[in-house]
Amino acid sequence: MSDNPKLVKVIGKYKIVVVESKCIAAASCVAIAPTLFQMNERNLVEIIEGGSDELDNIMLSAQSCPTGAIEIYEGENKVWPLV
Ligand code: SF4
Repeated sequence: MSDNPKLVKVIGKYKIVVVESKCIAAASCVAIAPTLFQMNERNLVEIIEGGSDELDNIMLSAQSCPTGAIEIYEGENKVWPLV
């Protein structure tokens, strides 16, 4: 798994991972969590440097992604997407 800070963010015991190859630029994650996600110059999602948000809202934004491009882990366990 990449350690690129634009693709991986650790918040407490949770790790948010952006799977860039799955992003189709729907931007619903950015609409829900604009303090954590932004679109880059290639129109793919990335994590804002120093950005953060409440975990509930991050989970909402991950759930809004039509392709499951935002993964959330608690320790080693993937808690989203569920499959
Ligand atoms: S919602 Fe998903 S597909 Fe849309 S920009 Fe965010 S990560 Fe990409």
